Amino acid sequence: MRKKIIAGNWKMNMTPSEAVALVNELKPLVACEDADVVFCVPAIDIIPAVEAAKGSNIEIGAENMYFEEKGAYTGEISPNMLVDAGVKYVIIGHSERREYFAETDETVNKKVLKAFEHNMIPIICCGESLKQREQGITIDWIRQQIKIAFLNVTADQAKTAVIAYEPIWAIGTGKVATTEQAQEVCAAIRCCIGEIYDEATAEAIRIQYGGSVSASSAPELFSQPDIDGGLVGGASLKPDFGKIVNWH
Ligand code: PEP
Repeated sequence: MRKKIIAGNWKMNMTPSEAVALVNELKPLVACEDADVVFCVPAIDIIPAVEAAKGSNIEIGAENMYFEEKGAYTGEISPNMLVDAGVKYVIIGHSERREYFAETDETVNKKVLKAFEHNMIPIICCGESLKQREQGITIDWIRQQIKIAFLNVTADQAKTAVIAYEPIWAIGTGKVATTEQAQEVCAAIRCCIGEIYDEATAEAIRIQYGGSVSASSAPELFSQPDIDGGLVGGASLKPDFGKIVNWH
């Protein structure tokens, strides 16, 4: 039985003091024993958010990370910096990073390997554009993204990973995928993991759906056999996030 994982992606929102206020506001609302709850926050918010979340069930995650250990990479955040600040989860390859910051499947793979090397759990994002969906190549595209993201990742590492299936056309648009669309792709991802590794790895890995998840859409989505929770953007900044976490 896989434990659900509900993660918020704050994106580029919340100053450090606003972050502390939001963690304090949401803390009682997201209390939940049967799901892992993660707030992925901007880098500058990590340390105050970790402090504010102490004593609660909230894990603080990062929204990005660089794949080198240290050195002349102005503006980047290293894996050690995240670990030292108290981070356990890191989002890798969000479609906004792929679109605006030129991330590729290859850089995603380097970051995934680096996250595992430092015992962090990567939340690995994949997803198709509207054009790709209309062309009928969604599953092929996602399989390709997954195969590259997991190059040189061991089965033991893969078992602990989280994959977020996020159709690009559903992110921040209010246009949530249908339950059937989300389940179909999440099942295909699990099947792909089974082909790369084995049945046990496919059964262990957690696969989230992301894209305009709300308190009203969460229950049906999260009840699907291959959907193990969600990656939530806009709604993770509101009290509604408590309802999403406690969806059942
Ligand atoms: C996201 O940022 O990963 C996301 C899914 O955003 P939203 O929930 O706002 O669509």
